[in-house]
Amino acid sequence: MRIAERIKKIPPYLFAQIDKKIAELKKKGVDIISLGVGDPDLPTPPHIVKALERAANDPECHKYPAYEGSLEFREAVATYYKRRFGVELDPESEVMALIGSKEGIAHIFFAFIDPGDYALIPDPGYPVYKTATLFAGGIPYPMPLLKENNFLPDFSKIDTEVAKKAKLMFLCYPNNPTAAVADEKFFEEAVEFAKTYDIIICHDSAYVDITFDGYKAPSLLSVKGAMDIGVEFGSLSKPYRMTGWRIGYAVGNKDIISALGIIKTNIDSGQFTAIQKAGIEALLGPQDSVNEMLSVFEKRRNLVVETLKGIGLEVEPPKGTFYVWVPVPEGYTSQSFAEMLIEKAAVVVTPGVGYGDYGEGYVRISLTTPDERLKEAMRRIKESLSF
Ligand SMILES: *Cc1c(COP(=O)(O)O)cnc(C)c1O
Repeated sequence: MRIAERIKKIPPYLFAQIDKKIAELKKKGVDIISLGVGDPDLPTPPHIVKALERAANDPECHKYPAYEGSLEFREAVATYYKRRFGVELDPESEVMALIGSKEGIAHIFFAFIDPGDYALIPDPGYPVYKTATLFAGGIPYPMPLLKENNFLPDFSKIDTEVAKKAKLMFLCYPNNPTAAVADEKFFEEAVEFAKTYDIIICHDSAYVDITFDGYKAPSLLSVKGAMDIGVEFGSLSKPYRMTGWRIGYAVGNKDIISALGIIKTNIDSGQFTAIQKAGIEALLGPQDSVNEMLSVFEKRRNLVVETLKGIGLEVEPPKGTFYVWVPVPEGYTSQSFAEMLIEKAAVVVTPGVGYGDYGEGYVRISLTTPDERLKEAMRRIKESLSF
């Protein structure tokens, strides 16, 4: 058997050592609390589940779905954009349904990256940006997200020769894993930079509606000129607790959407129409469940930030996402700190280095664990760090 080179190019899995420790402890019957995964612990709101039940009984939904998504779903996304951001979208040409936003995020690289092309990728970042670049034969060029720049890339530091050869840039705000947010001024700078070098901007907006303290995150598309070169990847997974349902969308420039469509029509056949109907209910139905979830996450965020500050770690309460990006104490790397927490506290956190070299020195704590378990995890972390 001769496996393709593109698979061999994928960076090795970093957490084998940590997984081994978890497995050993589990075998011993240790009660492990994972703060590693970003998957809401609360179930999908019942009115959305009911919409799927109804649609599942409709024979019209049993056929092949429309490749680009049902017009009804695309209209619902357009309505959401108008209501939420004041952005006008043509549902026919500027909106496309995705089988979860991850699907579109991975496929967009095949629509824009030829072998040898650069893709500008945030580091630390969602791992798919880098691996999809490699799958397409491109070269990932890291844009460091540094604390001194509020975890925003500094476009002036990008090598001009690289910028000329870059076709695509990824951004993600509110950001996974750093939990940083970006304002419209930053998006304006990004658009200006991208236009100078003829680069498309792909904005991953998975957390745009997971925000706290009254903060509302902007859309890339509300910035002047963004529709000329930009596309935004939205997800129903996080705000509507639908991670298992696999429904998201791409919106923005119609030529970008159409190029993505050519890749997709040759790989998948769209998402189950009944799931799109449930997605419409999520986007256009009552939003109380979103607000209730946010207040739960906000309380958890406060608990985590207070606990960590109490043991001398420098953390600010994040305005968005359900993560806290925590600088590790002196003398630790992100991996050795995560290993220490597993051994001494039986708590799993994600080492920042798993998101890129510039994630070193941090761990990511996820707030998607039930209150009591999170409290217990914080108690254990506190204990393991007090001498
Ligand atoms: C969760 C997540 C996604 C993927 O969401 P799906 O719509 O479930 O595929 C994309 N980007 C980031 C940064 C995420 O954290």
